[in-house]
Amino acid sequence: VLCVSQDFDFFYFVQQWPGSYCDSKQSCCYPTTGKPAPDFGIHGLWPNYNDGSYPSNCDSSNPFDPSSISSIKSQMQSEWPTLACPSGDGDKFWRHEWNKHGTCSEDILDQPGYFQAALKLKQETDLLNVLQNAGINPDGKFYSLTSITKAIRDSTGFTPGLECNVDESGNTQLYQIYICVDTSATNLIECPVLPRGKCSSRIEFPIF
Ligand code: 5GP
Ligand code: 5GP
Repeated sequence: VLCVSQDFDFFYFVQQWPGSYCDSKQSCCYPTTGKPAPDFGIHGLWPNYNDGSYPSNCDSSNPFDPSSISSIKSQMQSEWPTLACPSGDGDKFWRHEWNKHGTCSEDILDQPGYFQAALKLKQETDLLNVLQNAGINPDGKFYSLTSITKAIRDSTGFTPGLECNVDESGNTQLYQIYICVDTSATNLIECPVLPRGKCSSRIEFPIF
């Protein structure tokens, strides 16, 4: 049987802490719409294989079409803001994410469906609220990796993957949280493979 698109096993739903992106040596640029709220932002919804590898750039004939998400643009700007330099309104980031990752699940989710699925997952996981309810706040203090993992596992039912980076002073900090989702992009699942995280046992949760 001819199959035009790639197959995959699950999605990583990846959210980034803006404080950790911005206080790194590389710094950041706020979007043209202004400084984002102090909340996790969406990085992407990434088709993945169970062995840790992943498909990318699966269909150059189906490039990002900004008009397909015009009705959800303001929600995209608040929940999926771009922090790369130079400042942009988000289209460049969303184009990169659709073209690299979204095209690999296009049989399941069309462009608006792909972005809507990520927005819904963000709302459902509500990570900042979950962490704050567990006493883990973006206050520049250090928290144990196990306490962060446990708070998210207790609320979602599944173990997240945590990724760290370093700030300008060399402190290891919480950068991204990976949640695994089934191929319909609706149900959370236990991660078949966790990303290699580069976190130490105690990590900073910086202010943004
Ligand atoms: P980095 O090298 O910064 O970890 O990742 C660079 C890019 O590679 C990410 O923005 C993402 O597009 C892709 N990437 C990195 N790790 C993974 C992974 O485990 N799964 C998938 N699907 N993409 C990844
Ligand atoms: P990935 O390839 O890892 O999925 O996405 C990273 C790409 O998106 C890089 O080219 C990066 O410059 C761009 N980008 C734009 N805005 C952001 C942002 O807010 N966070 C991250 N991590 N990458 C961004």
